[in-house]
Parts: sequence; C-alpha cells; structure tokens
Amino acid sequence: MIDPDRLALEFQTLLNIESPSKKEGKLAYYLADIFEALNYKCFFDKSSENTYSEVGNLIVKIPGTLPKQPIFFCAHLDTVGPYENPKIIFEEGIFKTDGKTILGADDKSGIAILIEIAKILKENPLSYPPIEFIFTTCEEIGLLGSKYLNYNLIDAKEGFVLDSENVEEVINSAPSSYQFIIEIKGKSAHAGLNPEEGINAIYILSQILADLPFGRIDKETTMNVGIINGGNYINIVPDYAVAKGEMRSHEEKKLLELQNLIQNQIDKVVNSYKKGDLPIGSAKFEKVFKAFKIVEEDPLCQLVKKAGKKLNLNIVFKKKEGGSDANVFNERGLKCLILGTGMQKVHTTEEYINLNNLILSAHLVLEIIKLKGEME
Ligand SMILES: [Zn+2]
Repeated sequence: MIDPDRLALEFQTLLNIESPSKKEGKLAYYLADIFEALNYKCFFDKSSENTYSEVGNLIVKIPGTLPKQPIFFCAHLDTVGPYENPKIIFEEGIFKTDGKTILGADDKSGIAILIEIAKILKENPLSYPPIEFIFTTCEEIGLLGSKYLNYNLIDAKEGFVLDSENVEEVINSAPSSYQFIIEIKGKSAHAGLNPEEGINAIYILSQILADLPFGRIDKETTMNVGIINGGNYINIVPDYAVAKGEMRSHEEKKLLELQNLIQNQIDKVVNSYKKGDLPIGSAKFEKVFKAFKIVEEDPLCQLVKKAGKKLNLNIVFKKKEGGSDANVFNERGLKCLILGTGMQKVHTTEEYINLNNLILSAHLVLEIIKLKGEME
C-alpha cells in the first residue's frame, strides 16, 4: 500500500521547504493544503501568541471508519540550522546534503510518512479509529509548540511521536531536564590599591563549582556547567559572576537532590565570606522537560511490538537522553512513544537517511493503525 516513489518524492519536496524554528509558516500552509485537498479538517491553534512562530501548531483530523478511541501521530515542523539553500543529494538510496547544511530529515521524515499515511487511508478501504496528526512548531528551541499546544483540540489520549532514529528502536523513556543559573554578587574594589575592601564574585563562584559533581553522575543522571561570565576589568575585583548549566535524569527525585546540593554549596561558601549584607549567592532552577517512562507491558508498547512482528521487525525499547515533544505530551496526559524514521546523525551537516528505512517506518505506522482498527 505504501507507495515508495510517492513517499520519496514528497520527502524531497519537504526537504526543499526551509522551516527553521519560528519560521514554519510556509511548510505548515503547504501541509494544510495537502490535507484539505484530501478532505481532512485542519486547524491551527493559537500557540504562536506564546511561541512567536509565524504559525500555530497544525492539527489534522482524520475521521475513523470505526467508533473507537482516537490515536495521534506527531512530527515537528521546525529544523535546526544551518538550513539555508539546502542542496539535496540522493545517491545509492540515501538522502543527504552537500555537507553545507543539515538535511532536515529531523523531522521531515516524520512529516512525509504522515502525508503518505493520509493518502493511503483515503485510497483504501481499511478499518481504523479516528486519527489526529499534530504538527508542532518550535520543537528545537525548547519544545515550545507542544508546551503551548491547545490540548482542547486533541481528542486522542495516546499516540506516537515520529522523531527518533532507528525504526526497530522505540523510545519508551526519556529524562527530566532542568536548567540552572547561579549568581554571585560581591563587591568591587581596586585590585592593587584596596583589594581588602572587595569581595571577589568570580573566586566565590569557582569555589562553589569546584565542589559540585559534573559529568555523568550515575547511570541515569548528568550535570553540566556550560556558560560562565563575570568581571569587566583585570585590575578590578569583580562584584558579579554567573554560571549557567543543566542537569538531566530519568529520576526526577535525583534532580531535586542535586538542586538541594547546589543550594547548600552556595550557602556554605557564601556564608564563609559574609561581611554585612555581602556576598549574596542565589540559584534559580527551571524545568525544561519532565521525564516519562512507559513500561514494556503497556498496551501501547505491545501494539508497536505486534505491528513490528507483522513486518518481521524485532522491536526493542530504549531510553533516550534528550527531550522531545513526547516529554511534554506525556506530562500533559497524552501517553506516547517515540518512533524512529530512519534519520541518522541529526543536528549535523552529515545528517542522512536511507530511503528504505523511511519506507519501513511508514509501513510500521500503517501497521500500527491497522492493528488498532482490529483491536477490541
Ligand atoms: Zn527532532
């Protein structure tokens, strides 16, 4: 049923429509035209008021032939850079670029699959539940589209995000992530004339960081400090220093422990210097995304496993170290797994995808839909 040539051609067309975060308009309207031509209802939500994208998230409703619980499929519209004027090369069954830009298979492979699926459902007398497609904006800049999605427009309670690499590896677990900022306020003074009157914020910040754990803390937890700033002149005791970092764990509890550790470390070091009101040390933590884990016994995992079996695929479940729209959906009560589309080396100019894997992923999605139609 999957038409490999049509899928390849559509994919190539999508790759040539530039869609960096916040500028997904052209791509989104192109998709809405396709789905409307197939007589499926399309909606844009009002998320652009918060994401500042040109468009809202695009939602497409495919009525089922069976009165069942709907399922959703999601792919994100935006890509990372460099993306300008991509030169797409198709060679020996593989899509890639000339190495000057990303390919954008992340996540246009997912979009191409959903277009092909929509056409197949129109053309063939299949039995299936209502299906919702969610095309999100601004995924690459903090999952903004899914964070500001109008969930009232979504009827499905479970589904799949098409945004991972290997087709046989289904992601059922992803970590929580927080970003943090540590700020130190000291007191400036001339470094040569009266250093004893100063409080060196950079020195205090270094002492705080020196005693914190970074890197891989345990098998499911990492922490990094990535940016440090402070001071303006070599001969002035700096009165301000700031460090920015992030922490991730598959166990939310461990991140709360790390936050306590950071706060205690700040208090300890700062208090050892306290003269009057200074220095001041503070930490701010902001959740970027929340962990999820769908156990392998869950009917949703079993559904993919069974669909894979029909295609002679050995589906295995894996955890991911990054965040995706799936983190946000699961947090908002939409249970979902992440499917691989065949894309490789994403977020690099070496990004590529084997057409056969893209086709295979489309088969898996179709099989999931067909099985869902057969289930009680
Ligand atoms: Zn992606």
